[in-house]
Amino acid sequence: MQFIDLKTQQAAIKANLERRIHDVLSHGQYIMGAEVAELEKTLADYVSARHCISVASGTEALLIALMAFGVGPGDEVITAPFTFVATAEVIVLLGAKPVFVDVEPATANINAASIASKISSRTKAIIPVSLYGQVADIDEINAVAATHGNIPVIEDGAQSFGATYRGRKSCGLSTFGATSFFPSKPLGCYGDGGALFTNDDALATAAREIRTHGQSKRYVHTRIGVGGRMDTLQCAILLAKWPRFEWEVAERERIGHRYGTLLAEAIPSFRPLEPADLQAPLASARGLKVLSDRTSVHAQYTILVPHRAEVQQRLNAAGIPTAVHYPVPLNEQPAYRDLCNDDPTPVSAWLAQHVISLPMGPDLSEADQNTVVAGLQNVLSAMSVEKTAAAR
Ligand SMILES: *Cc1c(COP(=O)(O)O)cnc(C)c1O
Repeated sequence: MQFIDLKTQQAAIKANLERRIHDVLSHGQYIMGAEVAELEKTLADYVSARHCISVASGTEALLIALMAFGVGPGDEVITAPFTFVATAEVIVLLGAKPVFVDVEPATANINAASIASKISSRTKAIIPVSLYGQVADIDEINAVAATHGNIPVIEDGAQSFGATYRGRKSCGLSTFGATSFFPSKPLGCYGDGGALFTNDDALATAAREIRTHGQSKRYVHTRIGVGGRMDTLQCAILLAKWPRFEWEVAERERIGHRYGTLLAEAIPSFRPLEPADLQAPLASARGLKVLSDRTSVHAQYTILVPHRAEVQQRLNAAGIPTAVHYPVPLNEQPAYRDLCNDDPTPVSAWLAQHVISLPMGPDLSEADQNTVVAGLQNVLSAMSVEKTAAAR
């Protein structure tokens, strides 16, 4: 069993893929070829945003968004410490300070109610992360940002492209939406890629210029930029994947929900990190608020387990691959701990010790999913028997 199966998808779209790649090889416009604009139009329509700006990676998307607001030394950017390093990396790269706000235990997303107390006159942006594929409490975050002088909100939707929030699409919910097309993300190319989404014409122009060395016209550098374009070939690959994407999103949702149901039956203490995956009565019996206003694309299917290292090792021995997203919150990382605020973030610290991600993807078979659930049930019950015996 693979942690993420990309081969089945490739076989399903083979003809389209070969045609699209061949088209690029024939026209030879490897940078900013016609496929770039075609992809941007397709994705902007999907997200219902006025503009899509394709960029070299998800990291580059976040960096360019902050550069469009002129974020620099002395500025602060509010975000969550329980995320992939890129979210905070771009802040410190620009000389600004990450101000971490703890996440919520039920969702692993930023605690919207705690943001206001961390806003200062230096706050230049807020970056909520839609972790594991489920959108953060973006309406509440937008409202806090609006009442504090319209602070820009950049959704880090690297894991949530395709997810919905109150009927709207992730990445089209705030000042900027940033996503990644890293191969294992819900919409992944065959290399690095990413995109920014916005409804603001001036910000879109700024992002397009920054993406190409701050160029407003050839050899006229109006601002400082980066070499941040997405390759035509990678855009062509996403266009080949596109006709299957809607089906994949629906499958991801169905498979996530099936995990929730099976795990709740097999493991009495089971608690998903995406409460939408539990039936409402079961969720409230376990003290969780059900988020029926949003769907997840399950970039990861992540749950909480005790004694994680041992669980992971035993699952591995049983042929079940797992991963940990993420073992150390960013405010505890050596390169970051002296550069950020020192407020404690106990929920992030606790989650970092207990999260484990199970095999997931639109092509995960029901048989493999059953194997994962049974394997986890066996490992947890064997461990609990052994620990009880050892305690006697
Ligand atoms: C993957 C990821 C990124 C970075 O995307 P890349 O395309 O790998 O640069 C940023 N934030 C989050 C939350 C991610 O998961």
